[in-house]
Amino acid sequence: MVGSPQAEDAGAPWSRAPAGRPGARGRGWLPAAWLGAGVAGLWGTRLLGMLGLLGLLAGCPANPSPSVTEAPAHDRAVIAELEQQERIGLAQPQEHVRQLLTLEAGLPPGSAERLEAVSQRAALLAQVRDRTGHEAAVETIKAWPADAPARAQVPLALMLARAQWLKANGQLGAGMRMLAGLSDLDTTHADPRMLWRATLLLGYLQGDYGEVDDAVENLLKAVGQARSMGAGWRTATAQTTLAFSYFRSQQFDHAKQIMAEALATAQIDPDPVLMYTVHTMIGIVHSQDDDTPFILQAREQALRFARDAQSRGLQALAMGNLADLELRQEHYARALDLSQRASVLAQEIHDIQTEILARHNMGIAKIGLRRLDEGKRDVLQAITMDAQREASSYTADAWLELGTYLEKVDDSAGAVDAYHRSRQLFDAVLRDETRKAVLEAQARFEDQQRQREIALLNQDNHLKAEQVRSRDLQLKLWAEVGVGVLLSGALLIVAYRRVRRTNAALAQTNESLRVQSERDPLTGLANRRHFQQDIVGRCEGGHGVRGSLFLVDIDHFKRINDQWGHAAGDTVLVAVARRLRSVLREQDLVVRWGGEEFLILVRSESTDDARLLAQRLLDQIGGVPVEHGPLAIPVTASIGFASFPMAPAGLTLEWERAVDLVDTVMYMSKAHGRNKAYGVAAMTARNPEELLALAGRMESAWHQGQVDLINLLGPQLEERA
Ligand code: GH3
Ligand code: MG
Ligand code: MG
Repeated sequence: MVGSPQAEDAGAPWSRAPAGRPGARGRGWLPAAWLGAGVAGLWGTRLLGMLGLLGLLAGCPANPSPSVTEAPAHDRAVIAELEQQERIGLAQPQEHVRQLLTLEAGLPPGSAERLEAVSQRAALLAQVRDRTGHEAAVETIKAWPADAPARAQVPLALMLARAQWLKANGQLGAGMRMLAGLSDLDTTHADPRMLWRATLLLGYLQGDYGEVDDAVENLLKAVGQARSMGAGWRTATAQTTLAFSYFRSQQFDHAKQIMAEALATAQIDPDPVLMYTVHTMIGIVHSQDDDTPFILQAREQALRFARDAQSRGLQALAMGNLADLELRQEHYARALDLSQRASVLAQEIHDIQTEILARHNMGIAKIGLRRLDEGKRDVLQAITMDAQREASSYTADAWLELGTYLEKVDDSAGAVDAYHRSRQLFDAVLRDETRKAVLEAQARFEDQQRQREIALLNQDNHLKAEQVRSRDLQLKLWAEVGVGVLLSGALLIVAYRRVRRTNAALAQTNESLRVQSERDPLTGLANRRHFQQDIVGRCEGGHGVRGSLFLVDIDHFKRINDQWGHAAGDTVLVAVARRLRSVLREQDLVVRWGGEEFLILVRSESTDDARLLAQRLLDQIGGVPVEHGPLAIPVTASIGFASFPMAPAGLTLEWERAVDLVDTVMYMSKAHGRNKAYGVAAMTARNPEELLALAGRMESAWHQGQVDLINLLGPQLEERA
C-alpha cells in the first residue's frame, strides 16, 4: 500500500533539521544527494545503486559559496533551503515538487535562486516521468526574462533539464549527446550548482552507456567542482559515482579507497539519502570480496537509510540490492520475495531502472528455484528493456549473470549461449569505451614515438658519425698503404669491424622498436596487434583462415588473484605462457588474447593433430602447480579448438568468425566443468552461412548430431579430486 507523499513526509525526522552538524551520524540527519540511479554489478548478480538519482538533479550549493556567505540573511536562508531540497528531493519527488513551487513563488522573478528552484523541480518531474509537468518547467526556463540577471544560466538549465528527461526516459545516448554541449558553454559564470549536476549526470550516463573512460574524466571533474563549492555531500556523492566507474573498469582497490573517503566525508554532514547512496556503493565495490557479512551490513545499512528517508524509490533499490546478495548466497526464495516487493514499488513510482533490476533478479531467483522457463523469460525481458535504453554495460552484465546461474542449474546450452552473448557485448562495450581512450592513447603514443624517433635520429647521427670516422680511417688506411702493408692490414680489420658493428646496431634498434610494439610486456608473447597484422597477411585475397585455432582461458583466474594476490596472478600468466610455448613450435602463433586468454594458430589443418596438441596443452598447463615464492598454485584451463577448412565440406571462415567459433566451444568446456578441451571435428554445413548458424546454437546442434565434437579432459591432480 502506498501512503501519500504528504503522509510520508510528515514524520520525516530530517525534513527540517539544521543542515549538517559535524560529527552527527546517520539517522535523523539531513538530506543528501541528487544522484540516484541504478547501478548494476559487473559480475555476479545484478545490483542497483542509487547513482541514477545523482545524475538527475544536479545541485544547489551545499555549503554556501563565498558570494552566498556575503548574501543578506534572507537570501542565505533561501539558498540553504534550496540546498536541502536538492539533497533530499529525489527521495520523495512529488512532495518536493510541491514544496519547490511554494518556494519559487516567494522568490524574486528572474533571479538565480528562482531559476535554481525551477531547475530542481524539472529534475524531479523528469524522475517521476511527468511529461506535462516537465515540459511546463522547461517552458518556464525558456521564457526567462531577457533582462534578468540569471538569463545567462538559461542554456545550462535547459540542457540539464532535457538531459534529465532523456535519462529518466531511458535514452542514455541522447542524454549524453545533449550534455556534450557542456563543453561549448562558457562555464566561467555558470551557476556552480547546475554545472555540478550536469557534469555528474554526464559522467553517470557515460558510465551506463559503457564509455567508462569518459565517465571517469567527468566524474573527477564533478568531484573537483564539489570541492571548490566546499560541499562535502556533493563531494561524497560525486565520489560514489566515480567509485562505480572504477569498479566497472575493474580497478577494485581504487574503487574501495574512494568509497572509504566518501564515507568519511559523508559522516561529517550526513543525511539519509547520502548515507543510503554511500552504503549502497560500499556494498557494490566490495561485492567481489568474499566477506559476505561486511557486504550484508553495507546493504542493510542502505535499506535502513532508505527507510529513514521514507522513500519508496530508495527502498525499492535497496531491496533489489539485498535480493542480489541473497542470490549470491543461493537463498533463492528470499531473493524472489525481495525482488518481487522491489518490483511492485518500482512500478508504483514509474522507475524503469529499478523495475529492470527487480525483474532481472526475480528471473535469476526463479532459475535458482528451477523454474527455468519463467526465470529466463523475466531475465530476457529485463535485458530487452535495458537494450531499449541502450544500456550496454547492463545488458552485458545481465547475460553474463544469466550464464552463471544457468550453469549452476546444469542448463549448459543456455549457459553457453548467454556467455557468448555477454562476451560479444563486452567486446562491443570495450570497443566503444576504448575508442576515445584509444584516440588519446594514440596521441600520447605518437608523441612518445616522435621522441623515440628523435632519440633514434640522434643515435643514428651518432652511428653515421662513427661511419664517417670509419671511412676516414679507411682513407687514412689507404694513405698508409704506401707506408707499410702489415700495418695497413691491421687498420683495415679495425675499420671493417667498426662499420659492421655500426650497421648491426642500426638494424637492431629498428627491429627492437618493431618487436616492442607487438609484444605483451608481461608474458613476452605476441599481442593482439601482432596477431591482427599477421592474420591479415595469412588470409589475403579474401581467403578464410587455414590451420587449427585454439582459445585457451585459465580457469577461475580471478580466484587466483583474490586468494594469492595480483603478483601471484602475474606469475601464473607468465608460467602458463611458458607452458604453452613449450608444446608449440617456433612457427606457431601464440597470442595473449585478453587478460587470461591465449589464442593459438598452428599451420596443421588436421583434426587429429589438433586433438593431440589440445591434450598436450591441457596436460602442460594443469600438470604441476605453478610456484610463486613458497606457494604452489594449482592451475587449469579450458580450451576450445577447431581446424579449418572445416570437415566434411572443407569450409573456411573469416578469422573473426573462426575466433568466435572457438570461443563458443571454449565456453562449452567451461560450462561442462572446466579443465577440459572441446574441439569441433566436423559440422554438417554446406556453406559458411550454415556453418555460422550451427555455431550460433552449438550445444543443441551437437545434441542433434549436426556437430561432431571432440571432448578431452585435463590432468586430474589428487588434491583437486
Ligand atoms: P572462468 O573460469 O569462468 O574463466 O573464470 P575467471 O575467473 O578466469 O574469469 P574472469 O574473466 O572472471 O576473470 C579474469 C580475471 O583476470 C579478471 C582480471 O582481473 C584478471 N586479469 C586480467 N589481466 C590480468 C593481469 O595481467 N594480471 C593479473 N594478475 N590478473 C589479470
Ligand atoms: Mg576469460
Ligand atoms: Mg578465465
